[in-house]
Amino acid sequence: MTLTPDVCVVGAGSAGLVVAAGAAQLGLEVVLIERGEMGGDCLNYGCVPSKALIAAARVAHVQRSGTDFGIAAVEPTVDFPRVMDHVVETIAAIAPNDSVERFEKLGVRVLKEQARFVARNELVAGPHRISSRRIVLATGSRPAVPPIPGLAEAPYLTNETIFANRTLPSHLIVIGGGPIGLELAQAFRRLGARVTVLEAMSFLAKDDPELSAVVLEHLKDEGVELRAGAKIARVDGTAATLEGGERLEGSHLLVATGRTPTVDGLDLEVAGIAHTPRGIAVDERLRTTNRNVWAIGDCNGLYAFTHMAGYEASLFIRGALFRAPARLDHSIVPWTTYTEPELAQVGLGEHAARERHGDGVKVLRWPFADNDRARTERVHDGLVKAIADRRGRILGAAIVGPNAGELIQPWCLAISRRLKMSVLASFVPPYPTLGEASKRAAGSYFTETLFGARTRKLVRFLVRLPVW
Ligand SMILES: Cc1cc2nc3c(=O)[nH]c(=O)nc-3n(C[C@H](O)[C@H](O)[C@H](O)COP(=O)(O)OP(=O)(O)OC[C@H]3O[C@@H](n4cnc5c(N)ncnc54)[C@H](O)[C@@H]3O)c2cc1C
Repeated sequence: MTLTPDVCVVGAGSAGLVVAAGAAQLGLEVVLIERGEMGGDCLNYGCVPSKALIAAARVAHVQRSGTDFGIAAVEPTVDFPRVMDHVVETIAAIAPNDSVERFEKLGVRVLKEQARFVARNELVAGPHRISSRRIVLATGSRPAVPPIPGLAEAPYLTNETIFANRTLPSHLIVIGGGPIGLELAQAFRRLGARVTVLEAMSFLAKDDPELSAVVLEHLKDEGVELRAGAKIARVDGTAATLEGGERLEGSHLLVATGRTPTVDGLDLEVAGIAHTPRGIAVDERLRTTNRNVWAIGDCNGLYAFTHMAGYEASLFIRGALFRAPARLDHSIVPWTTYTEPELAQVGLGEHAARERHGDGVKVLRWPFADNDRARTERVHDGLVKAIADRRGRILGAAIVGPNAGELIQPWCLAISRRLKMSVLASFVPPYPTLGEASKRAAGSYFTETLFGARTRKLVRFLVRLPVW
């Protein structure tokens, strides 16, 4: 028998689960097909295990870092298998939210199968045939593995295997210096491993170099060996030989060189769905070259973040189910690298803002060195950097510092509501908080005008008038 749901979703990761839950709660018939783990990458091999590992590593780091506060530093005793238990327990604690049971309770029919197209609107999943006018591909991505000689035969780790490893590496060689590589590099270093990161180009290349430099300094201070422009000539086992002949002996090798959209086994051609190695081609409404099929989350290659997967899922619900105008707004995209200090960005960076809006853009900075709460925490570096156009409209903001991923959120709101600097300069934040640095950065947009010669002249005139 052919199933004919209102919506058929392929992939039960961050993107697919939001569509399935939303459509089912709207009373629609929904089929959700998943060939692997419910929850996809974020829950099982990505955000959740990496942040759990980072949290454990921070505890170890704090034990080493008390001296400036008058508390003796101690070298922590790390029970690595127990650390990995903490990672597994964290996944298990969140898993019920993404489980088959929960989705079936919501009314979703979950098929634990591999899906593939057999016609434009028709899929096969195990023994089932599914025909639907709204098919959502949410098949995610997998680690991209560079064509380095010897790597394919090497026992390398990726995000799909590293969280199952229960031996603390004595020397972890990380290939790739983007957010994933650096987050894990710092975490393993703090847990006691020697860590070397090899990056063929430059570290954190998508971020503002003024801010990423602060992160890189901290990593170096903690003993992470960072090698930019390091081209690997070949890999033998867990050793890497660089162009030029230098050989680095590692105990473990982690590949973190980006992501490849997952389209294998889907037979997209059968359904007339165009795709490239960068992902499934979509328009601004996330519709593929087949009118009845949408592609959301990592598989369309636009962004590789859980929050974007969720946002894209909400655009599908608004556009395809409510028939409301719902187009992807690229100006509001935030991202955070969860190193310590964290590095967060939303909207345009300085370079992109200058390219698009010319040299009239105003760049505002507020260092945490001038923030009282940061001082109490002995935070000496980091800053808030914000960009506005000539009329004061906020174009972008970036923060490097403690909890930058939390601190960036007023800027996310401001950019999504197209607010001006005057709004972020005029609310009252509690004292003493790190968040005050954002208000001060926004306020500095007005410093020149507010305390300039014209205003001073005006105020001198006004105070001479009779008091009223
Ligand atoms: C180490 C790491 C850390 C990360 N940290 C963060 C972070 O801190 N914050 C953040 O925002 N993002 C983070 N990400 C990115 C985030 O995990 C992804 O952007 C997100 O998981 C993408 O969700 P998705 O639904 O598009 O895909 P996925 O979560 O990958 O889900 C896709 C699902 O589709 C299934 N599937 C594929 N093909 C088929 C098929 N033919 N039939 C049936 N099922 C199929 C797969 O089995 C999979 O379960 C991190 C990623 C990694 C690797």
